[in-house]
Amino acid sequence: MPDGDPSGPGRLDFAQRPILVFWETTRACLLSCRHCRASAISRPLPGELSPAEGQALLRQVAAFGSPPPVLVLTGGDCLMRPDLLDLAASGRSLGLRVCLSPSVTPRLARGRLARFRSLGVRVISISLDGARACTHDAVRGVPGHFDRTLEALRWLIEDGFSVQVNTTVMRDNVEELADVAALLVALGVPTWEVFFLVQVGRGERVAQLTPAENEDVCHFLVDASRHGVLVRTVEAPFFRRVVQARRALEDGASPRERFGLGELYRRLQQRLTGLLGPPVRRPAAPSVATRDGMGVVFVAHDGAVFPSGFLPVPLGNVRTEALAEVYRHSPLLQAIRHGRFGGRCGGCEFRTLCGGSRARAFAATGDPLGEDPGCLYGVTAAA
Ligand code: SF4
Repeated sequence: MPDGDPSGPGRLDFAQRPILVFWETTRACLLSCRHCRASAISRPLPGELSPAEGQALLRQVAAFGSPPPVLVLTGGDCLMRPDLLDLAASGRSLGLRVCLSPSVTPRLARGRLARFRSLGVRVISISLDGARACTHDAVRGVPGHFDRTLEALRWLIEDGFSVQVNTTVMRDNVEELADVAALLVALGVPTWEVFFLVQVGRGERVAQLTPAENEDVCHFLVDASRHGVLVRTVEAPFFRRVVQARRALEDGASPRERFGLGELYRRLQQRLTGLLGPPVRRPAAPSVATRDGMGVVFVAHDGAVFPSGFLPVPLGNVRTEALAEVYRHSPLLQAIRHGRFGGRCGGCEFRTLCGGSRARAFAATGDPLGEDPGCLYGVTAAA
């Protein structure tokens, strides 16, 4: 989920409550995407929270108090969960803002989604991992999936949903990012959430970018956000450092020259300008300082609590402990919130604003408080 969110920062106290609770309602999914964090399979795993336990979890989320966190019902494919409509209805009656993160399968049917819409579910996130059918279909493992995804995006927007497109950046699709941005602008998608790969689950076998390439992509995303789509990142909190640096850049100055950016940035920026022309507005890239376990918490299909879906360090279980107690009192989450990091992140001037991807630090070093090896800062003077 997002490393930044437009919610009013003055209202946020991340020591007390997250702004986002992700609940992996099920691991079941009819797709088997190459980078799937959950290594989802076609049937539910044993131990999934029952309908009654799911309802109890909703009450636990509401018990964080006001303002309540946004509840993102994810998976696997949340539409594989038979009681999903009941859960959404209960969440809404408890005053929660409920968002859905479904897979594009025949279950994502217009009539079914209309029932969620009538409950007040407004935000849907859909994955699109390339601008060409062959790229997206290869990631999703299903021929024709690209076309079905575009079709779903069109009717979801037509039906009044606020649609967020999720794209996981990897070596196989990075050169298409400008084309994805142009596609989203053409479709009228308001929000683009760009995931920087963390090598967990099936993602362990997918090639990630170098720190210098991550830096190029972050600068490109600032450029993309100037064309009418709000850009957020996941597992790339260093994007906030880049956004801050770009805000301080004098009008007309070249980001490539000022920040020593590479060929990847040049290609993406040129392609973006070729497709969309000069920028039309100031950057739309929010910068609230969330990170895994700070403003964000994740509940797995079996009730286990994690700092995020990409950081497999269990903190407790909602079957035996209140989610708010786990979130507020976990020593690991307290250390994350206080910025007690090692390596470059520990001594970094952007430790509070950014703090690095705790998930990537863990995947690379086994220490969730270690440095984020995906960041260029401190390797060279990047910003
Ligand atoms: S070194 Fe760590 S804290 Fe500093 S900008 Fe990079 S990821 Fe963020």
